[in-house]
Amino acid sequence: MTMNHQAVIGLEVHAELLTQSKMFCSCRVVDSTTANPNLYTCPVCSGMPGTLPVTNQRAVYLGAMVALALHCEVAAESIFARKNYFYPDLPKGYQISQYERPLATNGHITISTSAGKRKIRIRRVHLEEDTGKLIHRDKVSGAGSMSLVDLNRAGVPLLEIVSEPDIRSASEAVAYAKELQSILTYLKVNSGNMEKGVIRFEANVSVRKTRSEKLNTRTEIKNLNSFRSLRHSTQYEIDRQISILTAGKTVEQQTLGWDEAREVTVAQRSKEQAHDYRYFPEPDLPPVQIDPVWLQKIGDELPELPTEKLERFRSMGLNEYDAQVLVRQRSVAEFFEGAVDRGSKTDPPIQAKTISNWLTSQLFGMLHNARIEIEDMHITPAHLVDLLALLQSNSISANSAKQVMREMLETRATPQEIISEHELEQVNDVASITKAVEDVLRDHPEEVKSLLSGKDSLTNWLLGQVMRTLNGKANPQIVRSLLKKTLKREADTNNTR
Ligand code: ADP
Ligand code: MG
Ligand code: ZN
Repeated sequence: MTMNHQAVIGLEVHAELLTQSKMFCSCRVVDSTTANPNLYTCPVCSGMPGTLPVTNQRAVYLGAMVALALHCEVAAESIFARKNYFYPDLPKGYQISQYERPLATNGHITISTSAGKRKIRIRRVHLEEDTGKLIHRDKVSGAGSMSLVDLNRAGVPLLEIVSEPDIRSASEAVAYAKELQSILTYLKVNSGNMEKGVIRFEANVSVRKTRSEKLNTRTEIKNLNSFRSLRHSTQYEIDRQISILTAGKTVEQQTLGWDEAREVTVAQRSKEQAHDYRYFPEPDLPPVQIDPVWLQKIGDELPELPTEKLERFRSMGLNEYDAQVLVRQRSVAEFFEGAVDRGSKTDPPIQAKTISNWLTSQLFGMLHNARIEIEDMHITPAHLVDLLALLQSNSISANSAKQVMREMLETRATPQEIISEHELEQVNDVASITKAVEDVLRDHPEEVKSLLSGKDSLTNWLLGQVMRTLNGKANPQIVRSLLKKTLKREADTNNTR
């Protein structure tokens, strides 16, 4: 980005709501990436004439919960509308959505950027239904290529969350999207599983002169399914528009697609071809009316959200980065809190900071390498704390603790069981360590001589020899201090000789 241009981005996010049944019928919501096609459909969601939709109250409940978590004003009455267009995955010929009177308006999300915290305003949150899916097949056994329609996803409840154009860079767009994903998963209204396509983005991008307040012509990038494509496509579009403006030309208002393989945006339609959806109120559905008492109760029952949790973790002595890593996923945050709670009850207590360090710098890496999700691992918060207590009391070395942790991932054994099985107890006994130190020094007179005449690097080598004699189980701090003491004694005797 050049010094005199500024990016202006507004995001539209579509999130599926985790209800049992669809938005306007009683068909089951299934995983549309794995279920057999078209088994979970009925006359309503396959668009048969003469059928009547009925609003899923659970979807309204979840939508209201998200709206409150995003600090929105929830409308006492909102209205469904028909958005008319033709596409093979939309059998009714219109999508039921909300238009002039959405479920909620005027909220915000706080994001952390390199320049500190920023508030991104949310314009509206509304309910709608998902479309079906088209499956494109290249030539099938003799026949030509074809497109197949799967309506399992048609009618799945969707929440659309539209931001104001307050985002100023590709990384802010990703920070906003991740924060929203985190909030949705905290509320358990969405699995957050991007690979399954349960959260999708559309990015509206324009560029203007720095310090200008006016909004320039924007383009809209459709159907972004990952944080990576959100980041790359918005950055590409910012760069493309800056070079157009720098060349003295004007940006055309367009709908774009993102070509994942070539990493370029491609034009889909221009302003002239823009859709006129001929919105009008859905005559078959009553307005959504929200009882203030019901809404108040939803607000009272909201769980602690990521931003509040982050502040609390910071107050336990965690740095901003670690707190963020621990907060992002609710399951991770809850594991950490379980361990902190247990750690505060051991004697002496295990600090939150210590637990955080072992999670972020050891356990997460091990989980990543083993491709295990935190929900699926066998380590419990209690076992982790037991392990750290054994480390704190010098019963095992830090290296052994790592080994035990790796084993705990695979088995359900307690740390103590693993330590006994592999004989990992640390030797803290001064007498036997002293003997080992003296043996090693006696067996290596040449090295001791070079060391005493200044070759300090041999200290670690000798330390290694002592550790080997004790099968790697000696407490390295005790070994180091006894080695130092013995060497100093040697040096003194040499000097007085
Ligand atoms: P539409 O309904 O046609 O998609 P809206 O005006 O409701 O258009 O805006 C949709 C999204 O585009 C919002 O997230 C909004 O913040 C964003 N947006 C609007 N104008 C601009 C602009 N000039 N540059 C970047 N984003 C914009
Ligand atoms: Mg739009
Ligand atoms: Zn149905």
